[in-house]
Amino acid sequence: MSGIQGFGHISGDPVRDLRMEAEQFKEFATEMADYIANYLENIRERQVLPKVSPGYLRPLLPDEAPQKPEKWQDVMADVERIIMPGVTHWQSPRFHAYFPTANSYPAIVADMLCGAIACIGFSWISSPACTELEVVMMDWLGKMLGLPVEFLACSGGKAGGVIQGTASEATFVALLGAKARKLREVKEQHPDWSDYEIISKFVAYASNLAHSSVERAGLLGGVKFHLLEPDDKLSLRGETLEQAIKEDTAKGLIPFYAVATLGTTSCCSYDNLEETGAVCNKEGVWLHVDAAYAGSAFICPETRHHMKGVELADSFNFNPHKWMLVNFDCSAMWLKDPDAVVNAFNVDPLYLKHDQQGSAPDYRHWQIPLGRRFRSLKLWFVMRLYGVQNLQAYIRKHIAQAHEFEALVRKDERFEIFHEVTMALVCFRLKGSNEINENLLKRINANGVIHLVPSKVRDTYFLRLAICSRFSESSDIQLSWKEISSLADEVLAEARPGK
Ligand code: PLP
Repeated sequence: MSGIQGFGHISGDPVRDLRMEAEQFKEFATEMADYIANYLENIRERQVLPKVSPGYLRPLLPDEAPQKPEKWQDVMADVERIIMPGVTHWQSPRFHAYFPTANSYPAIVADMLCGAIACIGFSWISSPACTELEVVMMDWLGKMLGLPVEFLACSGGKAGGVIQGTASEATFVALLGAKARKLREVKEQHPDWSDYEIISKFVAYASNLAHSSVERAGLLGGVKFHLLEPDDKLSLRGETLEQAIKEDTAKGLIPFYAVATLGTTSCCSYDNLEETGAVCNKEGVWLHVDAAYAGSAFICPETRHHMKGVELADSFNFNPHKWMLVNFDCSAMWLKDPDAVVNAFNVDPLYLKHDQQGSAPDYRHWQIPLGRRFRSLKLWFVMRLYGVQNLQAYIRKHIAQAHEFEALVRKDERFEIFHEVTMALVCFRLKGSNEINENLLKRINANGVIHLVPSKVRDTYFLRLAICSRFSESSDIQLSWKEISSLADEVLAEARPGK
């Protein structure tokens, strides 16, 4: 035991102070490693949705930060007392809401190392390993997904990958690149038109099932976004896009950007990349692929038919932080020609210049912020410590569990499946009104044993059950179904006439 309480003591003996702090860190970190392993191992025992009310936390904390250092043991005790009662346990096998957010020991440990190195890798020279590992990891990952070589740095051209914080940022960065590319093209044809005049004519496209971050990218980028109707399989088709482009062009607008989603948030439907890609290529429209959730599954060759036509895209993105065991944040984006993005953001003050400029990417030009963490460490640790085969097995296990749940739903005549199950998301509903399904969901979440969120497509309200947890087993699926089925009994009994 160090004898020192807290951190930052100045005793007049700096060597001793540093050693004591390091000793304290080792004790603290060891205790935390135990706590984390315990938390995750026993996560099923915690109620997935907390029962606290807004404002629960402030009364549990002092009004101001402490003047004197406290003991880490006291802080640890407060994690259980103050924090855990207000945590939604995303890693619980009872958590079926949204999409998963990844969690693994290798990624947690990599984050510790990232915190220790604590570099800000905005340029090659600001930490060469930070940039170079990212370039290689994005090639490894791209190869694991079967991305065409035109997206990879190992192709020897300009292409390559970059780790963004989120899929939302990737969609926005691609939009800004597309905007810069189209602006340059139009200015060449119409040198007398002002930037403002040109940009006010810009229009982008996506399916109306695209994630809200896609529409938001349009708002942030100050351009019009047209949300198009998908077909009856909820897939955006080339013909629909082509028609919209034709109509807008006839009105004097300038189509410049389209987003195709592989694995929509609502129901995991897939836009048709082959068709939309062909239209985009013909019309000079940048095609960005948002595969935020489903992209992780493309490490399994049997799922890759969903990305047929990917070679026609300009940029591709998915979140290893959703379903590939790499903790948030790690959103993998590839650009066939990063120049449009790099040039759109290129501000080069003297203090950021270095002698090796141009020989490796300066990733600050590929993203919105200047600063960036050493996130590729997480990818490196996860890919090495699991190996591709175990990562594939993990995805396949979740998909199999989704089919197990689907079979339970199909066996119960009161229920119906809303959309084909292809990944680890099952969209289902009670046959009948939206209202009865809303009641069922309310009851499920109020009961607090499991947690789900709903969605609505074309006025049909349904429940989404996503397999999210690394710890999810068949027994958990059975338990979740039992809970849903018995709450359905209650909801249906109440809805019976005369009740
Ligand atoms: N795109 C799709 C299809 C999503 O499902 C999500 C989130 O679930 C996003 C984008 C946004 O992801 P992020 O939080 O990484 O911005």
